Amino acid sequence: MEIPVIKVNPAMAKQKLIDESKLGFGVYMSNHMFKLDYTAEDNWHNPRIEPYAPLQLYPAAAILHYAQEAFEGLKAYRSKKSEILLFRPWENIKRMSRTCGQLCIPAYPEELVYDAMKQLIIVDKDWVPSSPGTSLYVRPNIIATEPFLGVRPSNEYLLYIITGPVGPYYPEGFAPVKIMVEDTYIRAAPGGIGESKTAGNYAASLKAQVEANEKGFNQVLWLDGRERKYIEEVGTMNIFFKFKDELVTAPLGGTILPGITRNSIITITKDMGLNVQERQITIDEVIDKIRSGELEEVFGSGTAAIVSPVSVLHYKGQGYEISDGQTGPLTQKLFDQLIAIQYGEAEDPYGWMEIIT
Ligand SMILES: *Cc1c(COP(=O)(O)O)cnc(C)c1O
Repeated sequence: MEIPVIKVNPAMAKQKLIDESKLGFGVYMSNHMFKLDYTAEDNWHNPRIEPYAPLQLYPAAAILHYAQEAFEGLKAYRSKKSEILLFRPWENIKRMSRTCGQLCIPAYPEELVYDAMKQLIIVDKDWVPSSPGTSLYVRPNIIATEPFLGVRPSNEYLLYIITGPVGPYYPEGFAPVKIMVEDTYIRAAPGGIGESKTAGNYAASLKAQVEANEKGFNQVLWLDGRERKYIEEVGTMNIFFKFKDELVTAPLGGTILPGITRNSIITITKDMGLNVQERQITIDEVIDKIRSGELEEVFGSGTAAIVSPVSVLHYKGQGYEISDGQTGPLTQKLFDQLIAIQYGEAEDPYGWMEIIT
């Protein structure tokens, strides 16, 4: 489907940042955005690409009060041949549909939104950076727009997609992160919305994050909401533990985000012949295996950092160093392999990359 495009007035267009070493994450937005409306009468309608601009919302819009929302995050990569590649975009499209289901947001037309995402990237293709480690971050978002203060699902929504160039997560090379194991606050509970990429989950995580930052840690590691015992995930990453004879990550039980990077790592490591287990693991087992020397590496996985080595776990007032504070060999290997696939430099045996242009 050809989506109508209103191009930004060239005189008003934002200029790209020339110095790609200063991109950071989520700071710069490209010139255009995709929009799609929903009303109960007309269903999803009026797809269009327009200049990136502020939204008009009523102060009573439901999103601003009760956070009925779904979002996604994925990256477009520029290959050495200057193709633009997306990593497993259908996984994001489908995950956002599941989030909608959990948030009582009406199902959106997946094919149309997938096409729109590709067309939007092509309209702003000059914004896809080319320096090593850079990419174009793509943020789809669905918000409840009906101006109504009662608590019930909205009858009106806006689905929009914005994009913007981002730098490498680790501009100076891998920097292992220090993680505080959170034993007071919780992120999610069984029966809740922990597996959804929705605004409220992140608002609820800020206080723990800030307190961990104040104590000198980069992120928190969440434990389960019932017993504060089982490992769940990190702020915006899933987490893996490499033991001598096993690679372990928490199972998808409804309280953690089903990461696409997590799924990709499980696929790759199984193909490497590793013993990969999605199983419940307690913080006590982790600490025991640090003490016994069985724990070799810990790393997080997510779209932003791809793979993120962990150098310290801090739990109940005690710090435990992992891999002598260095990046472990499996962590490095997975990072290199995923990056090579994403930038079109390695074979793509799983058919994960979609060439956009
Ligand atoms: C997005 C996210 C992840 C990682 O998911 P990817 O699909 O790999 O980017 C993990 N945990 C949380 C809480 C997230 O929001």
